[in-house]
Amino acid sequence: MGKSFIRVYKEFDVEDVSKHLLIFGELLATCNNCSKLGLALTTRTCPECKTEFRFATFSSTKERESQMHKIANMTDLIFLDYDDFKRVSGKLKAKDFFK
Ligand SMILES: [Zn+2]
Repeated sequence: MGKSFIRVYKEFDVEDVSKHLLIFGELLATCNNCSKLGLALTTRTCPECKTEFRFATFSSTKERESQMHKIANMTDLIFLDYDDFKRVSGKLKAKDFFK
């Protein structure tokens, strides 16, 4: 049997994740901190805001798994589920809004 992805649950500081998250598109990536577009998938530091990437997620579910296998072998980034991230970061924003 080959290697497969299994989602794990771990507590993260959502603000910390949000600042160091690289969002993978099909060919290029986006910095979640400053929204800089067109970054190479192998980028580790944002050329715009200089944040260091420690987390990665895929915005599209299409081809997600085959792409993840390719990228997982060449990176030490922690992969997050995009929907999980959106859900908790949305919660965080809603909480800030009512402060
Ligand atoms: Zn940036």
